[in-house]
Amino acid sequence: MQLGALRHSLEKELEGLGIISCHEHHLIPERGELVTLDYIFDNSYVGWCGVDTGSTPDERESFIYKVGTNSYYRWLALGLQRLYGFDGELSAANWEEISESITSRHRSPDWYFHILHCHAGIEQAVLDAYWHPGSDNGHPEFYRPTFRINALVMSHSRGVKDHNGNNAWQLFAPYGMEPSSFAEYLEAVEFLLTAKKQEGCVALKCALAYDRSMAFDEAAREDAEAAFGMKDAVPKQVKAFQDYVFHFIVERAGALELPLQCHVGLGKIGGSNPMYLVPLIEKHPGTKFVLFHGGYPWTREIGGLLHNYPNVYADLVWLPLISPTAAVQALHEWIETAVTSEKITWGGDCWTPEETFGAVLALRWTAAKALADKVQDGYFSYQRALELARQIFSENARKLYGI
Ligand SMILES: [Zn+2]
Repeated sequence: MQLGALRHSLEKELEGLGIISCHEHHLIPERGELVTLDYIFDNSYVGWCGVDTGSTPDERESFIYKVGTNSYYRWLALGLQRLYGFDGELSAANWEEISESITSRHRSPDWYFHILHCHAGIEQAVLDAYWHPGSDNGHPEFYRPTFRINALVMSHSRGVKDHNGNNAWQLFAPYGMEPSSFAEYLEAVEFLLTAKKQEGCVALKCALAYDRSMAFDEAAREDAEAAFGMKDAVPKQVKAFQDYVFHFIVERAGALELPLQCHVGLGKIGGSNPMYLVPLIEKHPGTKFVLFHGGYPWTREIGGLLHNYPNVYADLVWLPLISPTAAVQALHEWIETAVTSEKITWGGDCWTPEETFGAVLALRWTAAKALADKVQDGYFSYQRALELARQIFSENARKLYGI
C-alpha cells in the first residue's frame, strides 16, 4: 500500500477506537447559555497565547490573524468546525452565528457528554480538578479522579499556597486534621493519601513544575522540620521542607500503588527538564512515574527514561496539541525505546469537551502518521500497528490505573 493510502486506512480504523483520557480538567458549566465561542477560547490553550478575542469584527479578525497559525488554535478550530458544521475558516463574519449555534447545542445538558462519548470516542477520563483536588465533577460514571499533591509539598506553613491557591490545611480540614508539628504533618499527608485512594482516586498528580524546579534533593529531616509552621523560614529551609515532603509522597505513592502523574517540560521551563527526576526514579523503583507532555521540549529524554527504567511511563497528554510534529517524532522513538508496549498512554488536558475533541483529532492524526511510517518501513505489520494503537488509546491506561 502507498504511504498516503496506508495512513488514510489507519485514520479510519483509529476513528473507531474507544479512548481512555488519562488527564482532563473539564469544567461543567452550570447553564448552557454560558457557553459561547468566547467562553471556549477563554477556557482553552488559545487563551494562553495572550491575545484577547475582542468584541468588534476588527478585533476578532486581528485575534484570528495573530493566533491562527498556532497549533492550539488549529486543533480547536478543527474540532469546532467538525462539531458545529461550518465550512472554511472561522472569521469575524461567521463568529456570531457559530457562537449562537454553540450556545444553542449546550442548552441541551446532554450535549457536553455527547461530544465526549460520541464524537471524541472517550469512554472514561481521569479528572485533575485542581480547584477541588480529588473531585469527580459529580460524574463517577465518566470521571476517575487523580489527587493533586502540590499543596502538600508547598505549604510549609498555614498561609502558604500552591500556584492554584490551595493550602494543605484546607485539604486536611474535612478529615478533622490540624497538624501542629512536622511529625503530625507527615501523618496527616499519609492519612489523606490513603483516604483519597479509598474514595476512588486512581493516581496522584504532581504539577509542581508550575511552582518550583523539579530538582528535588534528599533533605535532612531536621532541615525540613525547621521550616514547618514558620512564616519567615529562609529559602534553604523551605526547599528542604518541599524536597523532604515530595520524597515522602513519592514513597507513599508506591506503597499505595497509585501511579504518580508528573508534569514535566514547559511550566517553569528553567526547572522542568524530566532528567531532574532521575534520582527519585532510581530511589523509588516501586513507584510508577507517569511523565506527562513528552517533557516538551525534552521528548528524547523521555525516550531515554523509558529505555532505562521499568517504573517510567510516558503519557502523550497535551503533546499533539503543543506540537503535532514533535508528537509524531516522539511516538516514533518511544515505540522503539520503551521496554514494553504497555508504557504509552494519552490524555487531552482540556477544560472544554470541544478542545478535548480537537485533542483527539490531534492524537488520531499523530498516531496515524507515525504508525503508517512504521508499517511502510516494514518495522512491524499493519495488524500490530493497530493493536499498538488500541494499547495507547485505552488498554495501557486501563491496566495502569485499574480502570
Ligand atoms: Zn493538565
